[in-house]
Amino acid sequence: MTALDLGIPAVRRAAPRDPARPADPRLIDSFGRVATDLRISLTDRCNLRCSYCMPAEGLDWMPRAEQLTDDELLRLITIAVRDLGVEELRFTGGEPLLRKGLEGIIAASAALEPRPDISLTTNGVGLARRAEALAAAGVNRLNVSMDTLQEERFASITRRDRLSDVLDGLAGARAAGLNPIKINTVLLRGVNDDEAVPLLRFAIDNGYELRFIEQMPLDAQHGWERSEMVTAGEVMQRLREGFELTPDPTERGGAPAERWLVDGGPAVVGVIASVTRPFCGACDRTRLTADGQIRSCLFARTETDLRALLRGGSTDAEIADVWRNAMWGKLAGHGIDDPGFLQPDRPMSAIGG
Ligand code: SAM
Ligand code: SF4
Repeated sequence: MTALDLGIPAVRRAAPRDPARPADPRLIDSFGRVATDLRISLTDRCNLRCSYCMPAEGLDWMPRAEQLTDDELLRLITIAVRDLGVEELRFTGGEPLLRKGLEGIIAASAALEPRPDISLTTNGVGLARRAEALAAAGVNRLNVSMDTLQEERFASITRRDRLSDVLDGLAGARAAGLNPIKINTVLLRGVNDDEAVPLLRFAIDNGYELRFIEQMPLDAQHGWERSEMVTAGEVMQRLREGFELTPDPTERGGAPAERWLVDGGPAVVGVIASVTRPFCGACDRTRLTADGQIRSCLFARTETDLRALLRGGSTDAEIADVWRNAMWGKLAGHGIDDPGFLQPDRPMSAIGG
């Protein structure tokens, strides 16, 4: 009788190393990239329903038993930082502020050696009362997503009337000393694409750094249309109606945002042209979903199950090697422009944006 007959899940032990993969402890891929930035989705749940992310009724949330426990998650984070050369952790979701124990997870991550850089991407709802604890726990950098400064529009885009909460969250984060604070904005044609200039003015006046992100085919409803997307080029055109923009000479590295000095600086604005000017060649990311799956790319169509290894008694060394294998197989690019492009099965909210 096999383990499967007994209802015991088959456990994948460490996969044999692809003979072509060099014996490098880091997360290298076959195109010479090294992943040092780990994006961690803490939950797929959310308290907003942004139209470009999920449907009004929400999604079938991941059952709790499938989600990694804090201990499981921290074991993987430790392996990543200690054994795989990960230098940066970004906590996201879904909405990471909904994850119980968030501050504890961050504090434990901050205690690792070498100390990773820690950032958080949040919709900002409820941030005002959490900001101090998050800063004390060790958050270095914060991104707050906000697509409009108009209450009614906010309610229509996110299907929740919470703009004032987000604005309070931003102010609370600044008061808690978090710096830098970046605002992520997705412009939608005919909805908020007239707000590029007012949003940048607001960000500059309040000491936040604004970044525009091109809408990507990652919505749960599969409603993305390339022709409907507001391109980075259009964003720049809009911004130039209100500001003079010159390229920021600072090194971009693996950062996805092209940065521009606003009216000669020091204020900057970022534009993330994931679709029209992909930056896959410089990508340094590896991704972990809330249920313990490694993804080598937002758009990957395969995942590697580390939860089964964690729950099946694998050693840290075995888990590390499976993670290395997963990243070795990373594709050259996201392929959105390929005729056969297929959106990943998981939406952005379940992968971790
Ligand atoms: N709930 C948090 C938030 O909104 O910041 C974290 C998760 S959310 C998926 C992360 C980022 O992804 C947000 O800035 C959001 O605007 C962005 N996002 C979601 N769906 C997107 C899409 N289809 N294309 C581009 N960006 C998207
Ligand atoms: Fe929630 Fe973030 Fe998706 Fe909006 S973008 S629905 S805040 S996960």
